[in-house]
Amino acid sequence: MSWETRAANNLLPLSWDKDSLSQALREWRYTGDYHDLEAPSVNCELCDHPDIRYQFEIRNLHTAERLLIGSECIHRFGIAATDEEGRTLDALATRKKVDRDRRQLVEDARRRRLVTALVALANVEPDFNVHSFIDYLQTRGAFTPKQLATVLWRLKKKGVVHSPQDFKLTIRRSREKAQLLSLKDWEMVLVRPCLTSEQSAYLEKVAHRRTILDHLLD
Ligand SMILES: [Zn+2]
Repeated sequence: MSWETRAANNLLPLSWDKDSLSQALREWRYTGDYHDLEAPSVNCELCDHPDIRYQFEIRNLHTAERLLIGSECIHRFGIAATDEEGRTLDALATRKKVDRDRRQLVEDARRRRLVTALVALANVEPDFNVHSFIDYLQTRGAFTPKQLATVLWRLKKKGVVHSPQDFKLTIRRSREKAQLLSLKDWEMVLVRPCLTSEQSAYLEKVAHRRTILDHLLD
């Protein structure tokens, strides 16, 4: 059965139009309600695609019926989104809204995992000041190189389950750049997986410059 047939089977009984999928799809809007199930665990209620984790809710304008579907289906079936005032958005604006909401879901999930790891660490290491780390995270959205090396080392030492990629580093301030460059080798190994591509490129540029400088001084 094609995904179009499956979508028609799911959508038409809940729509005014009972014959044409393309007509019925026009009755539906994505209004900005989304959910994270924290694991791929359900089917898309429109196309039956399995293993959906992020659910986007679409509503019928006439019947008040709702379906929880994957974000890809909003694009695939050309379902329009609405803005905060309930106005229907065009295809480009809809895509932007859905992509923004999806990024927000992924970002929220990353934050939750990160805070869970920090709290788990505080439970096994009472002298770890979890509040100062969480406060810092809330104001800056990322850690300094030293903070990051410290927290990753402690997580590893205590065997706390975590994913280094969930942790982000900030080197916007010059003293943070200096801190990154002064990390010991073992600290750098811990921090490396957290770097963005720009941060890695910066590090390589500096290392390259240093090699040239060392060469000149030889
Ligand atoms: Zn789907």
